[in-house]
Amino acid sequence: MRRIIHLTLIILFSTISMSAFASADVEIKKIASGVWVHTSYYTYPNGVKFPSSGLIVQDGEGVVLVDTAWGELATLELMEQIRTKIKLPIKTSIVTHAHGDRIAGTDALKSKGIPVYSHPLTQKFATEYGLPVPDQSLEAIISPGSMVSLGKIDVIYPGPGHAMDNLMIWLPQEKILFGGCAVRAKGATSLGNTAHSDISSWLQGMKHISQEYNSAQIVVPGHGELGDFSLISNTLMLLSESAQ
Ligand SMILES: [Zn+2]
Repeated sequence: MRRIIHLTLIILFSTISMSAFASADVEIKKIASGVWVHTSYYTYPNGVKFPSSGLIVQDGEGVVLVDTAWGELATLELMEQIRTKIKLPIKTSIVTHAHGDRIAGTDALKSKGIPVYSHPLTQKFATEYGLPVPDQSLEAIISPGSMVSLGKIDVIYPGPGHAMDNLMIWLPQEKILFGGCAVRAKGATSLGNTAHSDISSWLQGMKHISQEYNSAQIVVPGHGELGDFSLISNTLMLLSESAQ
């Protein structure tokens, strides 16, 4: 009898864990040749589902993953979708600041030997917030306004903004700018979560971005619909209103 109960429990728990894995809500959408946006969803205790996006960029025979999915299980599901749909190995990854929507799946990547790059401050904040810690630090972009190339992608540190450590990604060939949480979605009417923000520095950083990357054809925000350069202009407007 005891054996049967044991067996039933084992089957029950494996079914629960399998269904949790299978139900992790992750989507991949191609936006240009060799460039995809990944979107995952976080469900708040009140039942509201909130989307979060990152990029997948082909570089040679592999891909670079920009930001993990929003959760460790969701990141495992994302890795599985990259394997089955894009069919290229994840060679490296980069996380654009120390908040759960960007770095929650860091350990899932590290467990597969995939390096996880970030701004040096991200390692410090992730440790403080009890989040998984990226294992590679981009020392070359410690100061505001700096940029470093990682394969075919350019990693930009506009300075403190949405978060002290927020990074952006520029794809020079495709003219795609991934603004992360420092760029607000199309039609956004607020700056979102500003708990760790520096509004005046964010405004300065966005002015710099709007001048340097005004050739951007596609702008991808951290949350919500992508769009064109108007996302930058709209974020700039929201920032100047808020800075007054
Ligand atoms: Zn954030």
